[in-house]
Amino acid sequence: MSVSTITPWVVGNWKMNPVQADALKLISDFKKLLERAPIAEEKCILGVAPISIALLQTQAELKTAGRAVHTVAQDLSRISATGAYTGEVSAELLADYGIQYVLVGHSERREIFAENAAILNAKIQNALNAGLTVIYCVGESLEQREAGQAEAVVLQQVCDIAAVVAAEQWQNIVIAYEPIWAIGTGKTASPDDAQTMHAQIRQGLKQITGYAETMAILYGGSVKPENAVELAACPDINGALVGGASLNAESFHQIAQAFANTQ
Ligand code: PEP
Repeated sequence: MSVSTITPWVVGNWKMNPVQADALKLISDFKKLLERAPIAEEKCILGVAPISIALLQTQAELKTAGRAVHTVAQDLSRISATGAYTGEVSAELLADYGIQYVLVGHSERREIFAENAAILNAKIQNALNAGLTVIYCVGESLEQREAGQAEAVVLQQVCDIAAVVAAEQWQNIVIAYEPIWAIGTGKTASPDDAQTMHAQIRQGLKQITGYAETMAILYGGSVKPENAVELAACPDINGALVGGASLNAESFHQIAQAFANTQ
């Protein structure tokens, strides 16, 4: 049954995990699951975001997955091109090395690494100009939700990037709504609350881009096989950004299946 005409995305955010041997086993297990129970590309776009030094190895391993599983960078530099910027990796270098997707605005980057709207906008502009697709994360804290500010905070974060995204570049943006209080906590937004926020995000997007109806809006925050089916049934939830559960091949595969089954 088709919940939405937007092809869902299921992307694993491995964060600062796992060690190399475990990463290789995770990829190998996931490939075996895809062989045994294939998920059609047109039913679900798949990606995984490993640590930066594992990007190319992950990409090479995923070439034999039997279908596209995109390798996603977890971060990029706010500085473009090449030059004397020790420790940085620019959008152009990611693209040059064949990495076409990148996360921007994850709450851990916003909070722990003090990435504000100006820094995030520089990263988004660089990524889009280099031809990358950006998975842009937004989400409110528990305090903001309890103060009744969740919608305003999230819509502001969405609007923040309008200054740097050119009209046609909205096609290369995927939004990930990740309430901070649900990340890594085991607490998930109820499907109703998540759907309500996703619908509001889409309404907000309609004010700034003509692509709002075709943009994927992913949900993130303690997504697991147990709640994926209900979340996937919501019309404005077009996939999931998955942290903890993406470190288990079976869980990640089941979540992907839940979203693919809506198509
Ligand atoms: C995340 O950090 O993007 C995330 C959604 O994590 P978790 O699934 O572990 O809550």
